[in-house]
Parts: sequence; C-alpha cells; structure tokens
Amino acid sequence: MHPLWRGILDLLYPPRCEACGRLRREPLCPECDAAIVRIERPVCQVCGVPFDPRAQAAPRCAECRGKRRPFSVARSAAYYEGPVVEAIRRFKYHCQAVLWRPLGGLMVDALEDGAADVDPDTVDVVCPVPLHESRLRERGFNQSELLAEVVAEAIGKPVRRLLTKTRPTLPQVDLPAKSRAANVRGTFAARLEEVIAGQRVLLIDDLFTTGATLGECARALRRAGAEEVRVLTLARAVPAWRVAGRDARAISREVGTAAPGGMS
Ligand SMILES: [Zn+2]
Ligand SMILES: [Zn+2]
Repeated sequence: MHPLWRGILDLLYPPRCEACGRLRREPLCPECDAAIVRIERPVCQVCGVPFDPRAQAAPRCAECRGKRRPFSVARSAAYYEGPVVEAIRRFKYHCQAVLWRPLGGLMVDALEDGAADVDPDTVDVVCPVPLHESRLRERGFNQSELLAEVVAEAIGKPVRRLLTKTRPTLPQVDLPAKSRAANVRGTFAARLEEVIAGQRVLLIDDLFTTGATLGECARALRRAGAEEVRVLTLARAVPAWRVAGRDARAISREVGTAAPGGMS
C-alpha cells in the first residue's frame, strides 16, 4: 500500500491494541504482552493443570491419577485471564485474525523455553482442532489452524487437517463443566487415516478448559493409528486457587491494563 494511503487510513481508523483498545501500532501492545501471565511449573505432568506453588505439588493431578488420558502431554502457554481473554475474544468472535501471529508466538515461546515439555524434534505433524463447517463459514477462518500454522512454521513441521468435526456444538466455554464432555462426545472424526498411522501428532487449540474437546480429538487420532498425541494450547482456564487467592505478582503484572470490553 502507498504510504500516503496508509497514513490516511491510520487517521480514519487509528491502529489499536486488540486486547486493551489503546492506540498502538502493534495488534498486541507491549503493555498487554507484559501483563500476560505465562504458565510456569509446577503443573500436572500429564494434563498440565497448574498447581498452586504454595501447596504441595504432586506429579499428577487427581484426574490424571484416576484415569488414562488420550494425550500423553498437554500444555498451555498462558493463563486464560487478563489481556488473553480479550485477545482471544477479539481473535475468534470479531475475526481479528491479525492477532494470530502474536498469540501463536506465545505458544512458540513455550515450546522454545521448554515450558511446553514437547521436543519439536519428536513431532511429525501439527494438527489443529477443527471447526464444524457451519462455524467455519460464519467465521471465515479456524483460529486453531492459524495458531497451528505459526507453531508449525517455527518448528519446521507440516500442518495437516487430520480431523473433522461431524456436528456443530455449543461453545464449551458457555457450558458448566459437567456438560462439556457430553457436548463434544463423538463429534470428531479422523480423516487421512493413511497419513495419521504411526505419527506423533501435536494437537493445537486456543483454549484448554476441561480438556473434553482435546480429549475427544486425541481419542479420534489414536483410534486412527497415531503413535502419540500431545497437546499445546494458547491458554488454560484459570484454576480455582488462582481465582481465590490471586497472587500479588500476577496482579501487579496486570496493573496498567484497561479492563476488557470497553472498545468499539
Ligand atoms: Zn494493549
Ligand atoms: Zn492432570
């Protein structure tokens, strides 16, 4: 674009940070980026749920001790709180696809600094959690696929759509925890089974809430012959101990962030 047009467009539609709405050049401004709380250990060895660092941390959470998970490892880059909530909302529901690079970058950071507990050399293929085609038509893009592309490019592995969603479901985030497993049960099917067989799959999604969706996807991949399924999501639903006893560190990191939702 000609710089003059760029200048006129900037005057008419000044660029804003998508998370806080302030006038900023970057889609995710440095202040918001600094306020994002990355997930650090201790976490459950399997599902990655963050443990309260003040409490005694076991290697596995109660749920992962009690049952076999279809994925071997699940990790998330950041807590689903602060600027991440608004950034994901804008990304998904306002089609602000411009956010896919900075948000995907958070996931790449987790892979590179070891927080994701996934050695990229042991990944064969990167697979996004699919949207149902009706939702895809409505949104115009699959947010998980955009995130998967950023991750795959960074680790030099291919992105393959190995799954389809066979019927539309209600957004998991709107449902009580106990209804989520039933909402997504049997809704994902593997495709390209000849490609899946023997592969070590890195499954990508934006948000890990109860893990019901990711569990269903991982099961479909395993049934189709995947050797291993590991999960990496951008964000993780905030565990109860963080909500109840918000640690001072996290709160201080949020200072300076406008409350989400106040944008046009
Ligand atoms: Zn911002
Ligand atoms: Zn666990």
